[in-house]
Amino acid sequence: MSHFSLPAEPRRFQMYIGGRFTDGASDQLTTRHSPGHGAAVAQWPSGVGEDAEAAIAAAREAFDSGPWPGMSAGERAVVLFKVADRIERRAEELGLIECLETGKPITQAIGEIRGAVDVWRFAAGAARVMKGEAYNNLGERVLAIVLREPIGVVGVITPWNFPFFILAERLPFILAAGCTAIVKPSEATSGSTLKLCELMHEAGVPPGVVNVVTGKGSVVGQRLLDSDRVDMVSVTGSTTTGRKAIEASAANVKKLGLELGGKNPHIVFADADLDDAADGVAFGMAFNAGQCCVGGSRLVVERSIAEAFTEKLAQKMRRIRVGDPLDVQTQVGALFDEAHMHKVLGYVQEGVRMGARIVCGGARTEDRAGYFVQPTLMANVRPGTPLLREEIFGPVLAVVPFDTYEEAIAIANDSEFGLSASIWTKDITKALRATREVEAGRVWVNTTLDNGPETPLGGMKQSGLGREAGLSGIEEYTEVKTAHINLQPRTHWIA
Ligand code: NAD
Repeated sequence: MSHFSLPAEPRRFQMYIGGRFTDGASDQLTTRHSPGHGAAVAQWPSGVGEDAEAAIAAAREAFDSGPWPGMSAGERAVVLFKVADRIERRAEELGLIECLETGKPITQAIGEIRGAVDVWRFAAGAARVMKGEAYNNLGERVLAIVLREPIGVVGVITPWNFPFFILAERLPFILAAGCTAIVKPSEATSGSTLKLCELMHEAGVPPGVVNVVTGKGSVVGQRLLDSDRVDMVSVTGSTTTGRKAIEASAANVKKLGLELGGKNPHIVFADADLDDAADGVAFGMAFNAGQCCVGGSRLVVERSIAEAFTEKLAQKMRRIRVGDPLDVQTQVGALFDEAHMHKVLGYVQEGVRMGARIVCGGARTEDRAGYFVQPTLMANVRPGTPLLREEIFGPVLAVVPFDTYEEAIAIANDSEFGLSASIWTKDITKALRATREVEAGRVWVNTTLDNGPETPLGGMKQSGLGREAGLSGIEEYTEVKTAHINLQPRTHWIA
């Protein structure tokens, strides 16, 4: 692996509309500073409503008249494979952009880019298996067919925590279905999405099929939600933003895909392999500095082992290497920005005021510039404490003991969210029962954060609507049309 360093000056990106790179209608730029160093690392245009409208027009034109929806799935797949190859070749460059803008460790960032290549390739292949149904069992007179058609122009609104990977879980599926897209990346981490435009351009994605407009959610994102010319919007972000999307869709009944927040439990039974469980729980809570929608933030642990397990876990957590995102040894980098860091530490302080005890961590790491927080474990957390109810989005884990299996499931399900859950036990029956009974779109047994493009992702309850990836990742972006075809002379209603 190469040596990575800060750029001498911020990297300058442009938006991508109708197959052209542009600064758009405003002369304002947004500058992103690396949360791990404080240096200015990237700049892109602060897009405005006019830019969103230009992108919508380009995507509409490409869908209504362009070649993309009419091409065979095989032809679309060829282009998508070419994009995947180009991403693979530029993985280190893309990873560096992502590392500098998000504050995550460079090795993790490059790993995510390589993971995204795999998702693009899966979606390219999956394009060719999207199919409808035929009903030949409706009697002699009628044959029915069910067609899947691309839904049309899709808006894609993405967050800052995994900008490139989350886009990979959506965009190639949208393109595989034959749709066209307008992407609105997070205003803080748009670089890798804009770099991807160059790669799509080279790979032969036709003009207007993908457009990227940078700018604020309340300006550009809201315009996508409000527009009658956008057929569907996929929003990945906080539940607050999801609610705004639902409010906007009340006016135009647009289809929404929503991937929102989580407050995910690790349930650790006394019969688990406790060394494995401690390692998995530490990884699940600290990965991406806890800024991971599916990361575990509640430790629901059997009372008989709670104290010993908490100590074992704390020993692991103290050894996590928090530090410079550009250092290949770093396991956990910086939090997203200063305000977010103070918000995370505020939850810890509030927990302490409400009687919780800090087992390890609990503070900023003071030895360097940047927004670094120690992996933090909190015990004696009273029910109702915000630490247990709200998505903190930082490396903070709250412990809740349980006595019976039923109590464990009740505690795990006592949340407005239902995104993911991890179950740790050697008892296969208990594991399967808990898999059934836990309310979460993704369940892990004796592991956590495992992933693969074959399997669908999404949340229950207030964690979202719809599913991404897998074959459902393409179906999500299609309309289903049923046709009844009469095969016999008509028996007249009016004789
Ligand atoms: P956010 O909700 O603040 O922003 C997400 C995106 O929505 C950004 O691009 C933002 O500009 C845009 N946006 C904000 N207001 C908008 C509006 N009024 N109209 C349209 N767009 C608007 O979220 P964030 O802080 O970037 O990311 C963190 C959140 O994302 C966490 O809650 C996390 O759980 C969630 N998330 C969920 C998943 C999942 O798959 N369920 C994955 C990653 C992140």
